[in-house]
Amino acid sequence: MAEEAIVSAQGLRHRYRGVLALDGIAIRIAPGSFTAVLGPNGAGKSTLAQVLGGVLAPTEGSIRWSGVPARARSLVPYGICLVPEGRRLFGELSIAENLVVAGYGAGLRGEALHIRVAHVAQTLPESLRDSMQARLAMSLSGGERQLVALSRALMCDPRLVILDEPSMGLAPLMVDKVYDTLTELQAKGVAVVVVEQIATHAVDHADQLFLLSRGRVVYSGAPTEQTVADAIKSSYVGAAS
Ligand code: ATP
Repeated sequence: MAEEAIVSAQGLRHRYRGVLALDGIAIRIAPGSFTAVLGPNGAGKSTLAQVLGGVLAPTEGSIRWSGVPARARSLVPYGICLVPEGRRLFGELSIAENLVVAGYGAGLRGEALHIRVAHVAQTLPESLRDSMQARLAMSLSGGERQLVALSRALMCDPRLVILDEPSMGLAPLMVDKVYDTLTELQAKGVAVVVVEQIATHAVDHADQLFLLSRGRVVYSGAPTEQTVADAIKSSYVGAAS
């Protein structure tokens, strides 16, 4: 029998007033997989990330987390964490304090909280780890923010992290760092979903690809050379690829 999916959804539709953002999406995220959801502006990627991450209820369709049709707003008990577009750290708090707040939200207290912060800090580059008590999130570069936002998501000890446009606005070297961290996570058994407009890194790392266009899946499967080339050609994945 196939391993139970962390998330599986059928017939997802989402409408914002007059706009049909998702139009009948089926998706399955297996434990330890690396999925890239790609598409141009307005394809519905962020909407899908929010639905899969449990922060937006779809207008129609069924969605199950670890086989359970969850109603809870927080998916922390299911081991699912969303890193939203724009990172949304608390700017006036230090890096360490951002981690503590996330751990608190995940129900950790006292010694368990401190142990998790120390553990998660290991995923940060040394320069950030050494300054995590003193540096405020507002002083970080875009890439550093992305790395801290990812480590914050790890405070809930996730089985799945969903990242909305993790490479947006980052210098190529920083994108490499973010994807290296994601690969290390996958090696530890964490499933990863990245939603990206720029395909290059996502395609190199993913074992499953979903191409979206106008709220529909126009390709799903392995990122073969041909599908990637076709996608780039038909500009589903953006000119920068
Ligand atoms: P982008 O990369 O530009 O964020 P996307 O692929 O992530 O694009 P979504 O942000 O999911 O796409 O948007 C899908 C469609 O839904 C677009 O037509 C968008 O204008 C619309 N939309 C998204 N959010 C809202 C909202 N809060 N209210 C109304 N329409 C929305």
